[in-house]
Amino acid sequence: MTERTLCVVKPNAVKDNHIGAIIKMLEEEGLKVVGLKMTKLTADKVEAFYAEHVGKPFFEGLKEFMTSGSVVGMVLEGDNAIARCRKVMGATNPEKADEGTIRKLYAASMTENAVHGSDSPESAAREIAFYFDNFSII
Ligand code: UDP
Ligand code: MG
Repeated sequence: MTERTLCVVKPNAVKDNHIGAIIKMLEEEGLKVVGLKMTKLTADKVEAFYAEHVGKPFFEGLKEFMTSGSVVGMVLEGDNAIARCRKVMGATNPEKADEGTIRKLYAASMTENAVHGSDSPESAAREIAFYFDNFSII
């Protein structure tokens, strides 16, 4: 089934000049970029975007990290785009990520793990609408 998902290149990977490498890996998986935007998140936006994680022990560190620099968000489209994007990303904990995944290659730590990817159709719809307006996606 054709799906859309939100993938975000996080501040460590932007700082380390891996935007292009990460998009290339997702395109080589066969996913189509149908929206693309660089921005900087505020603390309020991180709290809304990661609402399910507010209050968890790691959240303050995650918020500090996600507001520490620019991010690049993209909408990816394809069959099973949500699962395929997460497969290319690798496990949340880079020590557990498979060889050749984005997180294995470019994560600095569990928090600074290079990329975000939506985890369900419901979160993909919410996150895409949060990040992009209607005129920014084809
Ligand atoms: N995170 C963290 N410590 C943890 C769990 C998560 O710093 O123990 C951060 C990490 O950047 C992760 C994000 O919070 O990508 C969201 O966590 P989630 O469990 O949703 O992982 P993901 O869906 O990104 O793999
Ligand atoms: Mg998640």
